[in-house]
Amino acid sequence: MTDQTRFLLNETNLPKFWYNIYADSPVSPTPVLHPGTMEPVTPDFLSVLFPMELIMQEISSERYIEIPEEVREIYKLYRPTPLLRARRLEKALGTPAHIYYKNEGVSPAGSHKPNTAIAQAYYNKAAGTKALTTETGAGQWGSSLAFACNVFGLDLEVYMVKISYQQKPYRRNLMETYGAKVYASPTDLTNYGRSVLAETPNSNGSLGIAISEAVEVAATSNGTKKYSLGSVLNHVLLHQTVIGEEALKQMDLANEYPDVVIGCVGGGSNFAGIAYPFLRENLNNGKRTRLVGVEPTATPSLTKGIYAFDYGDTAKMAPIVKMHTLGHDFMPPGIHAGGLRYHGMAPSLSALHDAGYIDAVAVKQKGTFEAAVMFAKAEGIVPAPESAHAIRAAIDEALDAKARDEKRVILFNLSGHGHFDMAAYETYLSGKLEDYEYPAEAIRESMSKLPKVTLPA
Ligand SMILES: *Cc1c(COP(=O)(O)O)cnc(C)c1O
Repeated sequence: MTDQTRFLLNETNLPKFWYNIYADSPVSPTPVLHPGTMEPVTPDFLSVLFPMELIMQEISSERYIEIPEEVREIYKLYRPTPLLRARRLEKALGTPAHIYYKNEGVSPAGSHKPNTAIAQAYYNKAAGTKALTTETGAGQWGSSLAFACNVFGLDLEVYMVKISYQQKPYRRNLMETYGAKVYASPTDLTNYGRSVLAETPNSNGSLGIAISEAVEVAATSNGTKKYSLGSVLNHVLLHQTVIGEEALKQMDLANEYPDVVIGCVGGGSNFAGIAYPFLRENLNNGKRTRLVGVEPTATPSLTKGIYAFDYGDTAKMAPIVKMHTLGHDFMPPGIHAGGLRYHGMAPSLSALHDAGYIDAVAVKQKGTFEAAVMFAKAEGIVPAPESAHAIRAAIDEALDAKARDEKRVILFNLSGHGHFDMAAYETYLSGKLEDYEYPAEAIRESMSKLPKVTLPA
């Protein structure tokens, strides 16, 4: 125990390796299927969209993958990120629990997403790619990739969910500042976008639609453009493990070890990033940390979705993977935590949750913003609405520890700051925010549209 608040590592402690959960996971990877044939995909199919190095990482079972020196050089602009003990929050809650958080909001784009954006831009550059396409919801991913593409001299086209394009002009401006081109999806630039507009001219867009557009552009570019995804895939989760590797060292500096590790889950990358290195310690070194993913009741893929094969996008162009899903035609309500609106979940996280290694809770929107404001007042940082889901769960843990008069060590990932999300705060502060639970009926209906997959024995 120390009376320290900030636990900092210097550059020499920047991790040299990413950690691959599949080396130690008790559940094996499920096959990735071609959306047309429903047969396992070949590297050839994937190589239309991704450079070979990332495909190899996607299917690797190597425990540690070396972080290229060029990537570490860029990481050094903001990594290692600080770990803090939230002493003032503990006091405000009157809890005997110790609350720690890893602050990924200090990155140039303001979230954890540059951890993989930098790596993906680097591997694409190394493979001779000239331009990338991607989708973005709230704009966090788009601005992270725009930053990374600028660093490595790649062009970038971003298909941004239309409702966010309209509600979040500043994220769009940030992407444009880094040099990216940003389009409001659905656009009339792609076959799929035009088909959506023909049916629903006023479509607000969705992450699923935007993914379909970005994938179509890359797939029909004759190899000049590749596609980049900011979450869900194994290589993305892999790149995020720098968070947990640093946090392990920093908890050591604090002379404590977490009883529970918490992160919000959209596609699963920031949570896996902090949790998988701790899961390794559970699996290999007898630790017993609870790992809790937190999602909104509005998009409850882990807590209410079905664990099944489903398409990664709405147009059924992206590969089929086995995951917790709300259905690829999921039309999310316009909740403010845009980064948590994806219909699916990372396959490795889904499998580990299904097998009982990872817990999940869903929290309501108003309670989440209440937690965000409490955190901002106590610790000074205005969290991203996505990250506020983790804060809600961390506060609930701390209050539970208080009720049981129990010392509990809680670690959560602050995945980003909320400086571009003040419109959402305004909605909350003016009392206009509503709780919303995604109806079970809608999930049941979507489930009838899942691909009918029969795997060879
Ligand atoms: C994108 C985003 C998320 C959700 O994505 P994951 O892949 O689940 O991490 C969470 N927090 C912030 C700040 C984000 O930008």
